[in-house]
Amino acid sequence: MNKNNVLFDNSDRAKFEVGVIINWWDFYYLVKNSLFDFVEELDTLRRDVNKTFSTTYTTPVYVGNAYGELFQIYLNYFKASPGFVSLTFYDSKGSLTVWSGKFFDGDDHKSKLQDISKAINDFSVGNINCSDCGSQQKLSDIQNNRYFGGIYCDGCWNGKWKEIEAKETYN
Ligand SMILES: [Zn+2]
Repeated sequence: MNKNNVLFDNSDRAKFEVGVIINWWDFYYLVKNSLFDFVEELDTLRRDVNKTFSTTYTTPVYVGNAYGELFQIYLNYFKASPGFVSLTFYDSKGSLTVWSGKFFDGDDHKSKLQDISKAINDFSVGNINCSDCGSQQKLSDIQNNRYFGGIYCDGCWNGKWKEIEAKETYN
């Protein structure tokens, strides 16, 4: 390859992250109308990106909401009947679960998509749902109640997750 066509050399690569960004409404219609086609297209796209940029990690996929905030999404595809896609929306760093659920083949996905839309827009104004009971919380009130990707209201944290986290950390 001609050196002039190289965007950056290997020493620069660590400074860049290559990802795929989809805006909310494109994501909405792709999931609503052709969920499994969308997941397959995404897989192909990721493979192409990996080949183009010689990246070895899984190309991250982001969905941008109305506030311009990016959420890293993670899709897992189970084709066996009844097929479903498990989907998780994380914050932009991929470290905090904002929404998680399953989409079953043939279901009407509209209400779940409305759920996600609400969750990611609420997150942009500082609110998040407890990963256990689902109650809405102020992120700033509970930001230390975290275990892996989950975040918990004080009730769920003190009643259950605090102990699980402590065992994990100090064993
Ligand atoms: Zn809770």
